[in-house]
Amino acid sequence: MKKEEIIERYSKVFPKASRVTYAPIVAIKAQNARVWDVEGREYIDFLSDAAVQNVGHNNERVVKAIKEQTDNLLHFTFIYGFTIEPLLLAEKLGEISPVDNPKVVFGLSGSDANDGAIKFVRAYTKRRTILSYLKSYYGATYGASSITGLDFHVRALVGELSDVHYIPYPDCYRCPFGKEKNACKMECIEYIKAKFEGEVYADGVAALFAEPIQGDAGMIVPPDDYFKRVKKILDEHGILLVVDEVQSGLGRTGKWFAVEHFGIRPDIITIAKPLGGGLPISAVIGRADIMDSLPPLGHTFTLSGNPVTSRAAMAVIEEIEEKNLLKRAEKLGNYAMKKLEKMKKEHELIGDVRGKGLMIGVDLVKDKETKERAYNEAKKVVWRAYELGLIIAFLQGNVLRIQPPLTIEGELLEEGLNRLEQAITDVEEGKVGNDVLKFVQGW
Ligand code: PMP
Repeated sequence: MKKEEIIERYSKVFPKASRVTYAPIVAIKAQNARVWDVEGREYIDFLSDAAVQNVGHNNERVVKAIKEQTDNLLHFTFIYGFTIEPLLLAEKLGEISPVDNPKVVFGLSGSDANDGAIKFVRAYTKRRTILSYLKSYYGATYGASSITGLDFHVRALVGELSDVHYIPYPDCYRCPFGKEKNACKMECIEYIKAKFEGEVYADGVAALFAEPIQGDAGMIVPPDDYFKRVKKILDEHGILLVVDEVQSGLGRTGKWFAVEHFGIRPDIITIAKPLGGGLPISAVIGRADIMDSLPPLGHTFTLSGNPVTSRAAMAVIEEIEEKNLLKRAEKLGNYAMKKLEKMKKEHELIGDVRGKGLMIGVDLVKDKETKERAYNEAKKVVWRAYELGLIIAFLQGNVLRIQPPLTIEGELLEEGLNRLEQAITDVEEGKVGNDVLKFVQGW
């Protein structure tokens, strides 16, 4: 099948609700940070399938584990029966997670993990209110989209869970309170206190849901002491902290979990994306007393605890451990950040570079003073990068998303950054026409 035909047939069978387009790549094969399309072109993958391929596409250990498991047992229902693979995985996740006395439930997506977390915290605290962040993303299921700070337009159409309130995230580049860094008095913390004195009855709040680094909001890294201060306020009111590590977890930022950068222990962690190395598996890892608050079948699925996805996940974790990928993410991330910072000085289009490890955002602006978002330019950069053989995307319409596999070869990272710089230069020099704006939608 030809690429054009495939893309044409896609638009006939898949509704727009299921996708956004960035580049017309029809992938047929991938290895580590390289992807090949149906036309035989090779690409460097700076997206890792949206932070899925932490240990690289088709990682040898993961593929081997899957093959071994598929030879023996595809599934034996977790709900009624016993298998070994999900047990070993749950014990291992408990060991590496910064959660006290953890218990684990498995699911299939980040969205269902967050739905589960909503149920656990409401059941445990016997409170209904959920606090969440503006611009947060927790997923597409009813519960997860109800606490998502981005999806107001979808919810206006379909309805939502009640008792959800939003607070601004500590975004130090585009401060929601209009402050510059040197004048910051942590108004974002004061805002929470004020909210509890007015709009929200603090002792009725079950939990705060937080991404330790906001992903889809544009890779927003909070100040170092922000979450410690928030946790103190939560503790004063018996409010639980749920940390969504779906995008930031499993080594992406140079730690097993991004929350470890901030020196706090959450009550619940949700993970998915990279856990299965490309297969669908998620987990809610929470304090045992919280996780024991739902009755039998309170949160599980027919295909939860699947032996194949559990084996794949175990192989992902072993790979991170044995290849020392936490250190590698930190080292390569520092290298990329340095190079991008240098590019920022040389390019009008780059307003901000931020991130931790290999979770990096490059904020494209029309004007470094006003920080006006450069929407069309971001689309053109993504398109030009595609033409140059680099897979990249943007968030919030203008923040380039850089999340290559933690296993990316040093030279390939360097080559990808060079291609990115070339794409930015070409856009700045007006070499990319407006015709590409139609195809690249993004979000
Ligand atoms: N949480 C975060 C932080 C995410 O980035 C995403 C996916 N972008 C999700 C939850 C939802 O995960 P999934 O698409 O696997 O349902």
